[in-house]
Amino acid sequence: MAKEEGFSVQAFQPDLGNINEDKEEVVEVVDALEKEEEIEEEKSTDNIGLTFACGNCHTVFTVQANITNCVYCGGINIAPTDCNIASYEILPFRLSYLDALDVYKKKLLKSPLAPFSLRGASVKKCIKKVYVPCSLYDLETSGTIDFIGTERIQAVSGAPSQSFESNYSVNFKYNEILTSNYGRIPDILLSNINNYNYSTLSLLKDDIWKDAYLINSSFDDTSTFEKVRDKAIKYSAGIVKDNIDHTVKKISNNQLNVDTKNYRKILVPIYYIHQKYNGKDVVFIINGQTGEIVGEAPIGIEGVVILSIVVFLIIFLLSFLIAYFA
Ligand SMILES: [Zn+2]
Repeated sequence: MAKEEGFSVQAFQPDLGNINEDKEEVVEVVDALEKEEEIEEEKSTDNIGLTFACGNCHTVFTVQANITNCVYCGGINIAPTDCNIASYEILPFRLSYLDALDVYKKKLLKSPLAPFSLRGASVKKCIKKVYVPCSLYDLETSGTIDFIGTERIQAVSGAPSQSFESNYSVNFKYNEILTSNYGRIPDILLSNINNYNYSTLSLLKDDIWKDAYLINSSFDDTSTFEKVRDKAIKYSAGIVKDNIDHTVKKISNNQLNVDTKNYRKILVPIYYIHQKYNGKDVVFIINGQTGEIVGEAPIGIEGVVILSIVVFLIIFLLSFLIAYFA
């Protein structure tokens, strides 16, 4: 925790008193960078930023301001590196930092047993505006799949169970399957807040992400596709299986193919909240467009004490009433 003391967040959080000043500063920086661009026209790309690699957790991320800590683990062992993020499209944030703080506070109101330290002033330092690299797929699964279904006959006579072989032709279309290209933010978390408006996708331009962390992909295209292909095959097979009537059913031959109909590399806006409690990571993720939130708060020591007192009082009151009226 001591490391986090030195965390510099001014650049990423709105300071209501200084908005105009900040804007001017940013304009100045952008102006300066644009001038540099004019000089070095051939070398320039659409993305201006500083890319860092964390020596701790190996996250690579790009920012447009000087920072001293890793976006993921908060570690200070970060060093500048090269990385190409130009091929990504980007979704704009709709939620401000203060909105995100509000969403988080409301979520914790529903967890009264959560540790006090997760609600304190330090939370403000832990909320980060982050772009997560993802792939967005339109897929089609087609082919055949064979099942062996078995009916267990409750036979007193000990008659053998009957097996049925069935063959199915499958053709399913899946649109806008979002999969994370950053291993440390799992799909299972993202998919629970996956209500993005993909019609707002645009090219990666500096003014869209200037106050956010932009995480670089930790997967190549092939491994991302393998991940989403396996998911699609499993899901398609599951649908067929659910529609078979037999009590026991087993896939005997799976000939499903997956075709990519459309594929885009996109940056998804989230607010990422990473705190520690008793040495364990506590992570919340907020959809930067809709404010949906995922994450579970642990039960804190204070929660256990409060719960014990409540239970004790109930038992005490009950025994008192029983003794009184008995
Ligand atoms: Zn790190």
